[in-house]
Amino acid sequence: MKKIHWEEMRRTEFEEFAKANAVVIIPVASTEQHGNHLPVNTDMNCCYAIAQRAAQSINEFPVLVLPPIWMGFSPQHMIFPGAITLKHRTFVEVLTQVAAGVHAHGFKKILILNGHGGNTDIVDSLRVKLTHEDGIPTVTYTYWEMPTVAEEMKRISQTDEGSIGHAGEMETSLQLYLQPELVDIGSAV
Ligand SMILES: [Zn+2]
Repeated sequence: MKKIHWEEMRRTEFEEFAKANAVVIIPVASTEQHGNHLPVNTDMNCCYAIAQRAAQSINEFPVLVLPPIWMGFSPQHMIFPGAITLKHRTFVEVLTQVAAGVHAHGFKKILILNGHGGNTDIVDSLRVKLTHEDGIPTVTYTYWEMPTVAEEMKRISQTDEGSIGHAGEMETSLQLYLQPELVDIGSAV
């Protein structure tokens, strides 16, 4: 297994990765309810797993993955137990400072990989702010909007919108694969 985790690197290794023009992935998600059957770390677990597996499988260039940002923008979930949200401005500032830190150490290719629907608009607009206002060129992606994932969701969706929804089939399936011991499938509705 390659070394891909930012937090496991030594000082000298960062210099090597920056010189090699590594891509740095910043996973960002949420801690919030996911129905009665999934744990509140569902978004973080899915997003972080995808980031790590992508980094492990890419051999053409080096990729580093930051620890996932577990707090997102989830005020709409606060009526349910377990949700923790940041204020809009705090969320923007946290992401800005993390990206600025990565950039300050010589990394020029930064990908913010989002795993929570409530973050999508903020993360998309943040890309514009970081790139054009802060001088930190950034790419942002919400993982289920990647072309092949979006197509597959449309294909298996039972709805006209082509979405399989929050705590729906896709997230349940991913959690049954990634951390089945935390899923209570009997209480899925
Ligand atoms: Zn989710």
